[in-house]
Amino acid sequence: MTIDTQTLSRTLADKAGARLEMWLSICSRCGMCAEGCHYYASNPRPEHVPAFRVKPLVDLYKKRGQVDATVLETLRDVCYGTCTMCQRCTMYCPHGIGIAALVHAARGVAVAMGLTPPGLAKGLENALEFGNNLGVTEDDFLETVEWQLEELQEEMPFARAPMDKEGAEFLLTFHPRDIKFYPQNLFNYLKLYNAAGIDFTMSSKAWDSTNLGLFAGDVAKASRLAANVADTAERLKVKALITAE
Ligand code: SF4
Ligand code: SF4
Repeated sequence: MTIDTQTLSRTLADKAGARLEMWLSICSRCGMCAEGCHYYASNPRPEHVPAFRVKPLVDLYKKRGQVDATVLETLRDVCYGTCTMCQRCTMYCPHGIGIAALVHAARGVAVAMGLTPPGLAKGLENALEFGNNLGVTEDDFLETVEWQLEELQEEMPFARAPMDKEGAEFLLTFHPRDIKFYPQNLFNYLKLYNAAGIDFTMSSKAWDSTNLGLFAGDVAKASRLAANVADTAERLKVKALITAE
């Protein structure tokens, strides 16, 4: 792997800031954060201590980007593969170091260097093209809603599944796997909201509750995906958005 040093330097400069530099410099390697990490709890190896996850980032800043490819590959493997960015470890750190925020910055470095894991990159591409990370087309989404509504109406004749309705109280969003692989879940959501008498709507174009841009550490793409849902909520004049995760 050849390192594009200009891009790396520019990205490190972009990510740098007082908070990041302070966190990277004050870690006392006490290991107390390990106690809070579910990943460490399930597999208590030294490399699963939260502070270890930011070591490649520390190396990058210390060496001003003059590193070999293995540092970047380790950064990718550690930051995508061993941290869910849940922030529990921060509650256990005496300095309140934001490991999740540092992991997010490290993922941003990986994105800039073209090291986003392929499965994640594909999901992100789908989200930008289709509005959901599994690439469900608008026709397939509408057909699935109609299908599940018809089934529901057999036991609940008054059930409705409003689409793109203005002025509803809530806008529903879903995890795309519920639409593509587990439509029974959609059936259950519709049953629940109808039985509760909730004033809701769905959107034909903005229904994905996930944001793989955020997960990947790609701030620009995360903003575009968030704006798609937020703009729809504003356009439909709903009072609140309900997300699955
Ligand atoms: S943010 Fe990452 S390192 Fe911290 S507790 Fe969660 S999974 Fe562990
Ligand atoms: S608890 Fe805080 S200071 Fe101690 S090793 Fe973890 S991140 Fe560093």
